[in-house]
Amino acid sequence: MCRMFVVFFLSVLSWHSLAERVPRIEQQLDAVIQFPLRFPDAAQLAAWEQQLHTESDSDTWYRVKALSLLQQALAPEQKQDGLSALQTLLHQAEPISTEAQLEVLNALLELQLHHQLHAQALALVSQVESLLLHEVTPRLQFELLLQLGRVLKVNGELEQALSFFLRAHHEILQLDGAGTNYRRQYLQLQLARIQSRLQNYRYSIQIASQALQVATELELSILLPELHLIRGAGMQMSEGTSEQVIADFKQAAKAVYPQAPGRTQMMALNNLGAVYMHLKEFEKANRYFQQSVAIAETLHNDRELHVTRFNIGYVKVLQGLVEQGLPIMEQAYAAFINQTTPGLQGIMLGHLADAYHEAGLYMQENEALRQQRQIRDQVLAIERDRVYTELQVQFEAQEQGLRIQLLEQANALRDERLKRAQRERTLYIGLVTILLLSLIGLLSAMRHVRLLNAQLDDLSKRDPLTQLFNRRALQDMRHASGDLLVLLDVDHFKQINDSYGHDKGDEVLTCLAERLLSSVRKEDRVLRWGGEEFLLILRGVEPGSAAESIEKIRCTISRESIAELDVTVSGGAVLLDQGQSMQKALKQADDLLYQAKAGGRRKIHYQWPDQHIEVLS
Ligand code: GH3
Ligand code: MG
Ligand code: MG
Repeated sequence: MCRMFVVFFLSVLSWHSLAERVPRIEQQLDAVIQFPLRFPDAAQLAAWEQQLHTESDSDTWYRVKALSLLQQALAPEQKQDGLSALQTLLHQAEPISTEAQLEVLNALLELQLHHQLHAQALALVSQVESLLLHEVTPRLQFELLLQLGRVLKVNGELEQALSFFLRAHHEILQLDGAGTNYRRQYLQLQLARIQSRLQNYRYSIQIASQALQVATELELSILLPELHLIRGAGMQMSEGTSEQVIADFKQAAKAVYPQAPGRTQMMALNNLGAVYMHLKEFEKANRYFQQSVAIAETLHNDRELHVTRFNIGYVKVLQGLVEQGLPIMEQAYAAFINQTTPGLQGIMLGHLADAYHEAGLYMQENEALRQQRQIRDQVLAIERDRVYTELQVQFEAQEQGLRIQLLEQANALRDERLKRAQRERTLYIGLVTILLLSLIGLLSAMRHVRLLNAQLDDLSKRDPLTQLFNRRALQDMRHASGDLLVLLDVDHFKQINDSYGHDKGDEVLTCLAERLLSSVRKEDRVLRWGGEEFLLILRGVEPGSAAESIEKIRCTISRESIAELDVTVSGGAVLLDQGQSMQKALKQADDLLYQAKAGGRRKIHYQWPDQHIEVLS
């Protein structure tokens, strides 16, 4: 029975998770993948693949599978051809759905871009574009539009690239997943880069600065190095070297990636070298260039390798080592002329012209300057410029809307934080209050208990009839030598009871107690020792005045009648001596009392410290 219940329970659980599995994985993917720069790790992807094995024909399964293949293909030690694996997956995805196909195409484009297979990627553009005409999720729309923009950009189709980026930018408004802010920022980076390529540095700086501001507001750090790099480069190109430029490049050079060092760091170091080259700090410049070359070599990035080598050659020329530097520059320029952008080519031609000038090669200098002019004209074609400006205006209008949305998000974030802080404070205050109240409650309860205990304790040490201390109270009382102990016993008390009744007896005892109490000092004690016996402890009595004290007590009792009766007492008195125990002293007092009774009563026998006994009667 019990087992049946467990089985049923488990099956309910698994049914539940099956229904929720896909959306949950989609959500997790959105949170983890900050596509296209960040992927979940292999183990996580494998776990999702495993979870989805029962629905291997779902769009999500294709998403996970494509990412998994891409991840394997991008792994540094991977030799396997990820491209053909993705092509095969693409064929499988075709009959499934548009979404499934686009998931695979997304990964395929990423891998092609990674391997710099620009023409192959370009060949996929129209297929992707037509698939995007179908109803697909905004997230997929966005990711593919972004990829198309990147593909067109690397193929030099800057205008088209920009329009794809703008479409992607528009699509962001539809997104609300966990990675939306990151996606927007990545797109801004692309836009800033493209504007920089077009030498629209003002726009590039503006976009990068906005993105940096939002990154700080929303605490998104992943793209900070890239954004610093592009802004620094834009400012360097348009306004020249400044503290801000150096600070931006230094921030960018700090970039750390899982497979560090990366492209951003390499470029930042190269740029820092260029800055110090302009500042004529050649040693420093050379150090940065050498670091950049080392990274370019490990990354097999030929283009950057040539640019940096070109710079190293130029530093030598500027240091006066023209014969060493110029061949390095020429060699590097020739090697990368086909791989660079017109903007950079123009700058390098300018440097080359300077170097020729230093070497006294004026013909070559002229030729370099002529080529540079040609390139500049080409880049700044007026018609193009107009189109880009229009696109930029469009971008800014869209951006305006987004900024409002983002501000709201940032405010919501701040509000949420404030609320949380408020909640924490309230909770804290609540907890402290509860603790204090409990403490107060506990303390008062403790006080109450202590009071009760004290009352009980007091009750147990008081005689209910006379309210005098009883025998038990003696243990709490301090004793010192010089205390005079007087033990008194009413004579023939039994007869009083017998003659006048028990109540009268009680009355005698009460009156006697009052009389004894009134005859002693504050520091002295009167105890009801037993039935009709009383013990007096008189403090600090000198042996010379002890007899006088005893006499005074006896007189107090016999001075007048007690409860209208003639009452006499017998007693034994002992002066507590140094080192003498209370018990022994009491025994002595009792013995003396017995002697007083035996001697005819109404007497007090008193023993001096030297052992002789006096009788007061
Ligand atoms: P003695 O002179 O030898 O002391 O004779 P006594 O009668 O005083 O002594 P005894 O010990 O024979 O009797 C004491 C009596 O005191 C016995 C007892 O009933 C009575 N008694 C003890 N406690 C109380 C009390 O609280 N109230 C009353 N009314 N009588 C008490
Ligand atoms: Mg007695
Ligand atoms: Mg008696």
